[in-house]
Amino acid sequence: RRAKGIALRLTDLCKSFGGVRAVESVSLEIREGETLGLIGPNGSGKTTLVNLISGLYAPDSGSVTIAGRSPVPGSLMSACAAGASRTFQNLQSFSGLTALESVLVCLKEGGEREALGWLLAVGLGEKARVRCSEMAYGDLRFLEIARALATRPHLLMLDEPAAGMSKPDIARLVLLIASIKEAGVPILLIEHHQDVVAELCDRVAVMDGGRLIALGTPNQVRRDPKVIEAYLGS
Ligand code: ADP
Repeated sequence: RRAKGIALRLTDLCKSFGGVRAVESVSLEIREGETLGLIGPNGSGKTTLVNLISGLYAPDSGSVTIAGRSPVPGSLMSACAAGASRTFQNLQSFSGLTALESVLVCLKEGGEREALGWLLAVGLGEKARVRCSEMAYGDLRFLEIARALATRPHLLMLDEPAAGMSKPDIARLVLLIASIKEAGVPILLIEHHQDVVAELCDRVAVMDGGRLIALGTPNQVRRDPKVIEAYLGS
């Protein structure tokens, strides 16, 4: 059974590496259909938080609930089965495969037609037979999103999808994310580009030093003195 209304619930999540408190007592919810931005200076704990949700790390304490399910802490498979899917900030290499094959391996069901459908959805229909090793950087970022969508996620996490992209690609990306949101997929979006965050996010969570220091609409957090100070101090 899936709890209605809440796509992601984090309760008092903590994770340290040696003496570094990367994530400290973070509690947070993403509602069904909501796009939540996650921002904060470098080293504030954003990627660690996504790593905890996606099961790459187990938390020291606290819990993660995805669409009403509680995946086994620290299990990528279990988080994926619960419906969490993510892209990475640094592109993963699967260079020996074609674009189509790289999506096929992500499908939970279905075959080539379904995989091609996801490539079409991200604007890569014509690149299906191209090897990943031969694809342009921007195209690879869109391919990552197709691969994440192919798992039919209940929560899509995008880790700096616009990083290194050209302006036209960023415009394409914003339209794509808006269409994913329109389809009802809840999204956690780590993104440095303020205009992208303002355009897409219903609410924005701000981290600093592992803690959640602000949560509100893009306009609210932009004017929050704590947020301004965190960025000035970084
Ligand atoms: P952000 O994504 O906001 O830049 P991170 O989550 O990557 O922040 O990092 C938060 C803190 O945790 C940093 O001090 C970072 O050095 C530390 N950290 C993250 N991952 C590891 C790891 N695997 N081992 C040791 N320290 C880590």
